Amino acid sequence: MSEAIFPRSFLKTYPRAVRGEGCFVFTADGRRFLDGAGGAAVVTIGHGIEEIGRAMAEQASLLAYVHSSQYHTGVAEKLARRILSLAPSQMRNSGRVYFTSGGSEATETALKLARQYWVERGEKKRYRVVSRSQSYHGATLGALAVSGNQRRREPYAPMLPEWGHIPPCYCYRCPLKLEYPACNVDCADELDRLLDRGSAEDVAAFILEPVVGATLGAVAPPDGYMQRIAEVCKRRGILLIADEVMSGMGRTGTAFAVEHWGVSPDIILVGKGIASGYAPLGAVIVAGHVAETISRGTGSFVHGFTFDAHPVAAAAGNAVLDYIERENLFSRVEPVGDELGDALESLQRYSVVGDVRGKGLLFGIELVRDAKTREPFPADAQIALRIHEDALEAGVITYPVQGCADGTRGDHLLIAPPFTITSTMIQMLVAGLDHAISDLERTHLAGMGGTTARA
Ligand code: PLP
Repeated sequence: MSEAIFPRSFLKTYPRAVRGEGCFVFTADGRRFLDGAGGAAVVTIGHGIEEIGRAMAEQASLLAYVHSSQYHTGVAEKLARRILSLAPSQMRNSGRVYFTSGGSEATETALKLARQYWVERGEKKRYRVVSRSQSYHGATLGALAVSGNQRRREPYAPMLPEWGHIPPCYCYRCPLKLEYPACNVDCADELDRLLDRGSAEDVAAFILEPVVGATLGAVAPPDGYMQRIAEVCKRRGILLIADEVMSGMGRTGTAFAVEHWGVSPDIILVGKGIASGYAPLGAVIVAGHVAETISRGTGSFVHGFTFDAHPVAAAAGNAVLDYIERENLFSRVEPVGDELGDALESLQRYSVVGDVRGKGLLFGIELVRDAKTREPFPADAQIALRIHEDALEAGVITYPVQGCADGTRGDHLLIAPPFTITSTMIQMLVAGLDHAISDLERTHLAGMGGTTARA
């Protein structure tokens, strides 16, 4: 029988997943995999929790769908209130939540909202949303335009407007060749410098991932960076959009990562963990002053998707939050993250492990030819993919990405397990990685002319 699904890649064969339970995914051929990446930093409470399915089924039989331009529902209203209660304090009182079906839709919504905000205020020139290179904000063309992930942009480059990117804050490979703290987070001033070059009168907003997820591999900025970015946005009068699709909903140990630096953006994007993968759901948290600009202006946001605020997805979001609250899962992230971080650190004994970094339960492992020189592997060696496949053989799922060094070269693995991961599972996860990395060091590195063990 021929395959009917249009796959992400025609070059690989996909195991057929049939069941999930806790931190494990089971396949049709009877194998069990530890979900060390939560899919792509999605699964927070674990797989196969029956009460979530029941809540969704109840909502589906009661009211599966209404169009958000015609009705609001209690289930979405309740979730909006709960999301706001988790948001930074300045957003809580008069903020609003716009629900989408995922992260890319959340980004599109924010780009258009930032534009309409300025139109409503009579500043019709403003439309550009400035962003950072080495970032990812989604797959749709608007979201990809503000993304800086070279590999994901490349085939679509002619279709993407260039609104301005500044270098990332990436201390392991500082684009400005400086060192923290002597640098005084000069990379944040790149935003000021970009706004000084050319005209800034058409800039509507700046978007960034407070902790860069897939593209750089869990890179959190040092203290002072986010605060400076927020200060520049305020001083220059542009909106600050924090893309917390990956870093939000507890993933870094606080409900939203911006809390680590006491920053309150104008807009926060949410996705992935908001329904822990039980339903496609995203959200845009909008500060009161932005929502009021629309409500007191024309009164309607010229935007919308058919499945906005889907009742079944909202029911999943509420049920997931119920579970998180009952099991106190947000407060588990930091201690379990420390335990996982310590265990992952042990991999630094390999010369091919350049850096282990992260925050909460969002980690990146950067693989290099030689940890001393930090030289990346050639892109076509596909090292991250190889390690991922070897770890998979050992029963461990990771999320491999390339391009962290310069957009093309640089291999890393994203590690973002469910918040329910246990000590025994952490040992399994690290053992799987150890197996894969030691194999790389032994079989491939010698052939590439590298060293075989760190001094
Ligand atoms: N923003 C960030 C930071 C992401 O990591 C992603 C997905 O990886 C997106 C946006 C896009 O989300 P989605 O894939 O749900 O459309």
